Amino acid sequence: MHARADAPFPGPGSDNPSDTLADAIDAILPQTQCTRCGYEACRPYADAIARGDAEINRCPPGGEAGMRALARLTGRPVLPLDPECGAEGLRRVARVDESRCIGCTICIQKCPVDAIIGAPKKMHTVIAALCTGCDLCVAPCPVDCIEMVPPQDAESGWSGAQRDRARARFARRNERLAREAALRLARHADGAPGPTREPGADRLAVIRGAVQRARAKRASRDPLAAASGSAGAPTHADPTDRSA
Ligand code: SF4
Ligand code: SF4
Ligand code: SF4
Repeated sequence: MHARADAPFPGPGSDNPSDTLADAIDAILPQTQCTRCGYEACRPYADAIARGDAEINRCPPGGEAGMRALARLTGRPVLPLDPECGAEGLRRVARVDESRCIGCTICIQKCPVDAIIGAPKKMHTVIAALCTGCDLCVAPCPVDCIEMVPPQDAESGWSGAQRDRARARFARRNERLAREAALRLARHADGAPGPTREPGADRLAVIRGAVQRARAKRASRDPLAAASGSAGAPTHADPTDRSA
């Protein structure tokens, strides 16, 4: 499982053949940043392939066509997609049931390409054209109000332009997060007064209260389910619960 580091392709800005190969692999990967390959984003997977540390069949969003393109690029044999990473499927986009959204902002923090807009305590909306279908916002939603649906334009594919835009948005988001982290560190170093309680405690309390109100509201609409203890129960664990 060794990548061909001398593969004949253009690579921007590096004298290191391995970086150049990683650039070319990254250019093929679909940039959904879904982590299904087992890496935290597309680029780390590209780096692992270029180093010879990963097989080329671990990207379900890229599917068989993507894997074949990687095989051509690297000179490696064609393989079936690794079922451990999930199956190839039609493109889906996230949709928020806005009537149930409590405005906790957790989904915004999880979205790798900033495809969700909203504000604290306000309903949130997915910009479908920007959504990569990565699915990363679904499980953390404390009231289970995000689902993955077919795109309205019935487009099941993911074009090269969408891929490149997703890569750029992911990079911009990471730069912004790094700037914010640096700013927090600098403020701390300047001796600015720090939080008197656990960081984020206020916000967690707000979220927990909103979840409880949402559950109570749903239970009042469906008393039978409430009596059985299932009304409003989220599918996923309460992210504010740190008792586990
Ligand atoms: S699209 Fe998902 S599975 Fe494919 S390389 Fe990117 S993060 Fe990994
Ligand atoms: S909205 Fe959800 S599914 Fe779409 S890109 Fe953001 S985190 Fe992924
Ligand atoms: S995680 Fe769910 S409840 Fe929270 S803002 Fe997003 S959609 Fe709304």
